Amino acid sequence: MHKKRNTIIFAALVIFVAFAGLLVQETLLKKEGSYAVIQSHGMEEARLPLSKNTELLLGDSEQGYNRIVVEDGAVSVTEADCADKICVHAGKISRTGEVIACLPHELIITVQGAGEDTDAYAW
Ligand SMILES: [Zn+2]
Repeated sequence: MHKKRNTIIFAALVIFVAFAGLLVQETLLKKEGSYAVIQSHGMEEARLPLSKNTELLLGDSEQGYNRIVVEDGAVSVTEADCADKICVHAGKISRTGEVIACLPHELIITVQGAGEDTDAYAW
């Protein structure tokens, strides 16, 4: 009986630690981002500050387009003519490390924090 009870306590502890770790990751590592970095065909196309509401239309109706909108500190693809629409369905992202990808158009949007490069050295 005691052995079974210990197993349950142990399992609860493991779940708790895993949950706490996740929470730490959410709050510490995934900070609110500062920039939306737009990469198209492997090249950096634009770096939009999330603090400023703006809109960017990439491409055209011939080669395919994505309408990228920055609003209230989050970036999203509101409109695209790709076949899968995965980029549109991804919704808004605002935390560092989050990504929206449009594979048919080779478009990748990532959220980065301010001075991310120097952060790595500080740690
Ligand atoms: Zn797409």
